[in-house]
Amino acid sequence: MSDAAKLPLQVDTALSLLRQSGQPAPLGTPGSPEWMQGLIDALCQLSSRDALTGLANRRHFELVLGREIDRVARAGEPALLLIVDIDHFKQVNDQHGHNAGDEVLKAVAQALVECVRPMDTVARIGGEEFAIVLPNCSPAFGPTVAARVRHCVERRQVKIGMSQEIGVTISLGGAFAPQWVRSSVRLWLERADLQLYNAKAAGRNRAAFEPAAVSMVSAEEKGLLFHMSEFGSVAVDPETGSPP
Ligand code: GH3
Ligand code: MG
Ligand code: MG
Repeated sequence: MSDAAKLPLQVDTALSLLRQSGQPAPLGTPGSPEWMQGLIDALCQLSSRDALTGLANRRHFELVLGREIDRVARAGEPALLLIVDIDHFKQVNDQHGHNAGDEVLKAVAQALVECVRPMDTVARIGGEEFAIVLPNCSPAFGPTVAARVRHCVERRQVKIGMSQEIGVTISLGGAFAPQWVRSSVRLWLERADLQLYNAKAAGRNRAAFEPAAVSMVSAEEKGLLFHMSEFGSVAVDPETGSPP
């Protein structure tokens, strides 16, 4: 038995962690199997969820992204990572207060969850920054998904105080996992982040995507691509598959 396995579960510490995070103690008789299961479930929830929004936290998001990289490398299915950042969020805090800002964060989180598939993972990865991992999402569909997410948030009005309502917009950066190649969490994130930067620089309230990775397509497929292009049949170099 390893040294760690000999350590008893520190139930007092676990309960105080739950208390500090505002979560209720498990139901049932303390020490019973159901109660212990409830305690373990609550601890798992604590380590993987963002306390304010209830979304996956950054730690859990990185685990999901890592798993998705494995799947894409093994199965070659396309997968999209969207990074979402609220536009001019500082102004919301400055004009309406931090509590109003928190309400907006919760509303945006809710909107994001509602407009993607249950199999997608929505996470809060920073102050006013979110990420969505979309397995099995083809590059042709990326802009449509991003537009749906953007409109979903834009339409949502958040009630502040008795009568005031405020709305926010978001910018999105999208990058697809390179198929059949094992990327890394850091690299995939960096690529989506770069596109988020481009969306912000282009004026906000929009999405930017990495150009299609034509270099990953075989020479033969490239040839087919050019033949099918709007320019009609183009002669291609049989070695490289590119037009002359
Ligand atoms: P941009 O359009 O360039 O993204 O501008 P921005 O104002 O959204 O970005 P900036 O990075 O300047 O400001 C982000 C603000 O988010 C600053 C910070 O106080 C606020 N913020 C971060 N976390 C929280 C939070 O948990 N609650 C609230 N209410 N505000 C937060
Ligand atoms: Mg922002
Ligand atoms: Mg930000």
